[in-house]
Amino acid sequence: MINKSLKDLSQALAARQISSVELSTLFLGRIDRLNPTLNAFVTVDREKSLKMAREADARIAAGTAGPLTGIPIAQKDIFCAEGWTTTCGSKMLANFVSPYDATVIEKMHRDAGLVSLGKTNMDEFAMGSSNETSFFGPVRNPWDTARVPGGSSGGSAAAVAARLAPAATGTDTGGSIRQPAALCNLTGLKPTYGVVSRYGMIAFASSLDQGGPMAASAEDCALLLNTMVGFDERDSTSLDRPVEDYARDLEKPLNGLRIGLPKEFFGEGCDAEVMAAVRAAIAEYEKLGATCVEISLPNSHLSVPAYYVIAPAEASSNLSRFDGVRYGYRAPDYGNLDDMYMKTRAQGFGAEVKRRIMIGAYVLSHGYYDAYYLQAQRIRRLIANDFVEAFKQCDVIMGPTSPSTAFKLGEKAADPVQMYLSDIYTIAVNLAGLPGMSVPCGFVSGLPVGLQLIGNYFAEGQLLNVAHCYQQATDWHLRRPAGVE
Ligand code: GLN
Repeated sequence: MINKSLKDLSQALAARQISSVELSTLFLGRIDRLNPTLNAFVTVDREKSLKMAREADARIAAGTAGPLTGIPIAQKDIFCAEGWTTTCGSKMLANFVSPYDATVIEKMHRDAGLVSLGKTNMDEFAMGSSNETSFFGPVRNPWDTARVPGGSSGGSAAAVAARLAPAATGTDTGGSIRQPAALCNLTGLKPTYGVVSRYGMIAFASSLDQGGPMAASAEDCALLLNTMVGFDERDSTSLDRPVEDYARDLEKPLNGLRIGLPKEFFGEGCDAEVMAAVRAAIAEYEKLGATCVEISLPNSHLSVPAYYVIAPAEASSNLSRFDGVRYGYRAPDYGNLDDMYMKTRAQGFGAEVKRRIMIGAYVLSHGYYDAYYLQAQRIRRLIANDFVEAFKQCDVIMGPTSPSTAFKLGEKAADPVQMYLSDIYTIAVNLAGLPGMSVPCGFVSGLPVGLQLIGNYFAEGQLLNVAHCYQQATDWHLRRPAGVE
């Protein structure tokens, strides 16, 4: 059961081969057994989960179930869920119990009937690429527990890879769905900006943040995405467009598909063996009827620097709400109000979050705004325009997701710039607001490699189709770490 696809689980539930309570109990048992090693979940609440499972079973019995009703799922701890502790990986919110549901949570649980297995560990406020900035300690990669799972959605990635959950949610501001998916042999999708509501999803960099699915396959991601999308008047950047069925075109043949290979992604900076696996995957696509064309994204080398101005600027503004007044952590001893603010923030935030707040405040300050923030916004436009030009020549863009396989815990923790370069291939997609995916495409020394697929605006259905056809022809995505049979 633990290795079944969402479609198979759905059929098993519909055929009464297993109940949602039994299925949820199975995964909760795996969490009990394996989470002490992996640290993938920060909150588990058996009673809450089983109550949701019982309600799902009642819906199945009454014939009112949707396709995913009763299937358990792990939720990244950035999504507010009513009655659940929602920490965002921070001491600042370590005791915060959300009084309301994020739209994604409401849609997945109340509407679709998925069962929450709990909240997954993450980099503090989603700032990081290794899960080492979490207040709750690092997550370990099930493929090698001395290594990181990637970040910031590292808890979700480790949970699904070790089959503590059949699937999970993540969020991606600069690569946080795609990079951990790559490092843990999962399929992950960051949708077009505005497709998934950000209401109740704790904000890091609002113009870049987007929630999406992380699962074993493109088909599973499509089914999950169907439950997550839709216009939300409570999110001012939510897009009002017709809802699609993302599973509808999965099987469409790839004949004539034009793949763009950006020369900037195939030069230096990527591990040679990772690159070999990516090239082999592209050769497989040619066998499936696709053709390749070299393209250029001439400003892509500016994406990391532009991101590390824009994202901290937005973060410094978003995180100003954590002041110890209405909710979250408050320093125990203080003199006056200013002292309370200062001590609360000094004690409540970790080092990486403070670094971002300070960079953000600096680039937005009078005298530096034009030189940094405005300049970064101009570069952002150039990067987006590069993609507009590129998509005149191709249908999807491919390349590596991450320049290396999973690195060792502690290996990059002392060097923020090395850590920031983990997202060198993923960040431009967020700056442009485009959809992007990572798909398992091989192994280097026993560690997974991800192929990145980038689509045009609203092409998530096409990306899922392109990923699914590859997964029908290969079995990389079916490999599991040792001990997960
Ligand atoms: N690693 C990037 C950062 O630290 C991206 C994180 C994310 O996508 N949330 O900002």
